[in-house]
Amino acid sequence: MTLQQKVEGSIRNIPDFPKKGIQFKDITTLLLKPELVNELVEHWVSEYSNKNIDVVVGLESRGFLFGVSIAAGLDVPFVPIRKAGKLPYKTVGCSYDLEYGSAEVEIHADALKPGNRVLIHDDLLATGGTARAAYDLCRKCDATVVGFSFLLELSDLGGRSKIEDTGAEISSIVSY
Ligand code: AMP
Repeated sequence: MTLQQKVEGSIRNIPDFPKKGIQFKDITTLLLKPELVNELVEHWVSEYSNKNIDVVVGLESRGFLFGVSIAAGLDVPFVPIRKAGKLPYKTVGCSYDLEYGSAEVEIHADALKPGNRVLIHDDLLATGGTARAAYDLCRKCDATVVGFSFLLELSDLGGRSKIEDTGAEISSIVSY
């Protein structure tokens, strides 16, 4: 069985959560399988080990689940991006539009160094708004984003088109 098939078979789809019309991809069922978690982390570490990544940036909150392990496997720091108001030290922020209203994410102002080569990681690429905001935050810190890695991608929602112009490599294990 391929890694893609194993992941596909380990995700639980929850229709109409948290609201009607959303097909929620529940990854908690995958986290119950330590062998698969190890295989995924090994896969990502080997995929990025020759890309001179200096920092892995993970997106709140499910981007933390694998992000820390990928960073540790690459022997580089992990940096969290969180929703506004959660990080305790000086921050740099970026707002982005949601379907209704807007949201803001933040990073610690001293977490990235100018010129750092960054891998952005999250569990899922949907509309791409969150990933784009993460990219813009990294640019504000004068870092270079070399890749985006996702476990899952909902291709119908067109998230790729929001980050394609960055020139960074975009990868996902399973695309729906
Ligand atoms: P977006 O900014 O639209 O690309 O949304 C990405 C973020 O929202 C990720 O951090 C995901 O964890 C979460 N998300 C969006 N849609 C879903 C979904 N259908 N199932 C699970 N998580 C989702």
